[in-house]
Amino acid sequence: MYSFNNMVGGKTLSANASFDVINPSTHDLAGKAPLATSADLDQAVAAAAAAFPAWSGLSDAERQDYCHRVADKLEQHHEELARILTSEQGKPMAGMGSMFEIGGAIAWARYNAALEIPVEVLQDNDNGRVEMHRKPIGVVGSITPWNWPVMIAVWHIIPAIRTGNTVVNKPSPFTPLSTLRMIELMNEVLPAGVVNSLTGDDSLGAAMSSHAKIGKIVFTGSTPTGQKIMASAADTLKRLTLELGGNDAGIVLPDCDPAAIAPGVFWGAFINNGQTCAALKRLYVHDSIYQQVCDELVAFARTIKVGDGFDDNSDLGPIQNRMQFDKVNRLVRQSLELGSQLLLGGPVDDPDTLFFPITLIATDSASDPLVQHEQFGPALPIIPFSDIDAVIAAANDNQNGLGGSIWTDDQQQFRQLASRMECGSVWHNKHGAIQPDVPFGGVKCSGVGVEFGKEGLLANTNIQVLFL
Ligand code: NAD
Repeated sequence: MYSFNNMVGGKTLSANASFDVINPSTHDLAGKAPLATSADLDQAVAAAAAAFPAWSGLSDAERQDYCHRVADKLEQHHEELARILTSEQGKPMAGMGSMFEIGGAIAWARYNAALEIPVEVLQDNDNGRVEMHRKPIGVVGSITPWNWPVMIAVWHIIPAIRTGNTVVNKPSPFTPLSTLRMIELMNEVLPAGVVNSLTGDDSLGAAMSSHAKIGKIVFTGSTPTGQKIMASAADTLKRLTLELGGNDAGIVLPDCDPAAIAPGVFWGAFINNGQTCAALKRLYVHDSIYQQVCDELVAFARTIKVGDGFDDNSDLGPIQNRMQFDKVNRLVRQSLELGSQLLLGGPVDDPDTLFFPITLIATDSASDPLVQHEQFGPALPIIPFSDIDAVIAAANDNQNGLGGSIWTDDQQQFRQLASRMECGSVWHNKHGAIQPDVPFGGVKCSGVGVEFGKEGLLANTNIQVLFL
């Protein structure tokens, strides 16, 4: 059983109360995390604000060096962090599970450490010189979800500190342990107060988003929570980066080979058990190959093993929490009640575990709730189409706009259709691939702003222009 403290101002913060963190595979106690209060939040923000002048006053090269040392630390504790993550999140150690997630966190940390912060000369002539500089914002509040908790915390924290801000991070109460340990490790190499952790319930996140001394909130989570954060950040006009929900469509054109695309489509949808913002959540397949694609997906899905993340044979773990399990179960049930056809898996009666069978559903109803809503779990609706304009309209007929994919060997058709899709990323013959040097973000209700790349880094800064 793990037990970690919050780190505030470089020291452990004692807590009067704690809460249980449950292993979703076994229902055993994975660990305990401190239940921070609003007074603790004030203390964490004050510690971050106190660290800000010295940290923002360092040279870029010094901060780059610190960020590389953070990456080194994470590398040294790669397996330890992965084990904590599996015990609270449930995902397998191997495959695209915990070792992969910590590896991603290290890669993102290194990439951001190495980035340069530009000074742009906008004018240099007889009328004078104008320079555009990037200044840190101050204290950044980072609020993270339970699906990829460590990697997402690194996505928030490293660009923020690289650009000279200091951070208070609040992890999801479902998966706080790996983040607590990671921030403890960061504090072994960073100056006191640069990165602070605060675990607690959702009210702590709400208090952060209205806190007068926090200059920016970077939030990854659901759209309804993002909307609340945006509203409560209005009074203090906080800068916001909001990475929210997705209901990504994948469109399979008639020239595809069903057997060849099945593994890529499957993992695009079922990575992390579907608990991924930019997973493929609605699959539209041309009539002419619809039955073959369904058959190939069923055949491939039958080779995948769902089980305890510490079992080497498991490809996928449990759904992380009961609330999410019930949501997926409900959407699958509602879809079948509306007349869709079950190809594999299906709803679970009286579940006493959080393991959900991989579920594939054939549906042709645009009003199917499994099509309309983000399921965020291992259930994929497969919808036939015959008309390309109608399928683009269907893909766009959703409040979300995170990602999308088009499956075809015709590069030109990919480009034409991709430009008509209302989403932040469009993938060709794959779905959900992200990388640290490429901006990532959603349109419509999937978010505000981007992370990754230079654009993501600079989202942690304000512009200051010097007229010389
Ligand atoms: P969630 O919105 O329930 O919780 C996320 C975080 O917000 C948690 O730390 C929670 O404690 C906190 N929180 C809850 N209420 C709050 C409030 N009123 N004010 C401030 N903070 C509050 O989301 P979740 O269930 O943890 O994550 C799943 C969702 O996240 C899915 O919709 C998924 O698509 C989305 N997501 C998006 C991305 C992306 O990059 N776009 C990445 C991962 C997950």
